[in-house]
Amino acid sequence: MQKQLIKWYQENKRDFPWRKDQDPYHIWISEIMLQQTTTETVIPYYNRFLKNFPNVEALASASLEEVYKMWEGLGYYRRAKHIHESAQIILEKYQGVFPYEYDAILSLKGIGEYTAGAISSIAYGKQVPAVDGNVLRIISRYYLIKENIAETKVQKKIYQIVQELILNHDASAYNQGMMDLGATICKPVHPLCLECPIQKGCLAFKKKQMDVLPINIKKIKKQEISYITGIITYQNKYFLIQNPPGGLLENLYGFVQYDVESPYSFVSSFQEEYQQNLIIQAHIKDIKHVFSHRTWRMHVYHFILDKEIENMYTLEEINQLPLSTAHMKVLKAYLSSF
Ligand code: SF4
Repeated sequence: MQKQLIKWYQENKRDFPWRKDQDPYHIWISEIMLQQTTTETVIPYYNRFLKNFPNVEALASASLEEVYKMWEGLGYYRRAKHIHESAQIILEKYQGVFPYEYDAILSLKGIGEYTAGAISSIAYGKQVPAVDGNVLRIISRYYLIKENIAETKVQKKIYQIVQELILNHDASAYNQGMMDLGATICKPVHPLCLECPIQKGCLAFKKKQMDVLPINIKKIKKQEISYITGIITYQNKYFLIQNPPGGLLENLYGFVQYDVESPYSFVSSFQEEYQQNLIIQAHIKDIKHVFSHRTWRMHVYHFILDKEIENMYTLEEINQLPLSTAHMKVLKAYLSSF
């Protein structure tokens, strides 16, 4: 897998200004700018920033206002403040030379494990993982990890997997290959598996779970309920239930939902309640719906039945039924997912 990915990266790598050399200062600035911002947006900002602050010294001796001015429009200004503070630390503590040790890099302001890993591997060729959302998604799919990637213990497990994968390989090319694969092929929605360089060993592809994984369910706050909400279909019909009188949304129709931790548990709960088998087809969307006194976090998945059962309706019939607003959003998301 590593060899295929690295070869693919070397032949297809995207052309970015921060990929023209391995200067740690350049990589640092680009990685900070790329946090929460797309590559297309970052390119002109990156070029302008480096023109004005070509090295640590120039950045450290600028005023914070000057740095903010160069950051204007990029958002998340805390990043600019951190960069400015870190430049001053580098100047004072490391004589203006960007630190080499992983822990020293990690101790700079605004640098977490992912950014420290990216700088260490790309600038210095160190065998350190750089695990971000892309990597969590790809590894979860590749190894068919059905656990919740929002949990720290699952993230640690994936970190260890990557650590082993890069051992004795070009970690810089591997980490950047994962970034490119996640951005262009193994995308969050509708991954392009037929064009994927690591498809041969990918278990999610083999088991047709690439549209289901990863499971990514964030911890919820009080007053919030997290559901797996199921669009259950057989041919052109949808399975709906009517809410019982007396409760929230009484008498309104809606999709089945359980407050379970994954779509795999949804299948078991549905089987238990309705004695019917379901096949998980795809993750559709995560939807938040706020009521006056509580919030639903609905993780919407599409499931298929192997035969028609009672309480199934066509779209025309659903149009005539009183559907809850929350589940109207769910249906809309499903219909626009094609
Ligand atoms: S085969 Fe598909 S799911 Fe597997 S890594 Fe490639 S793009 Fe992702």
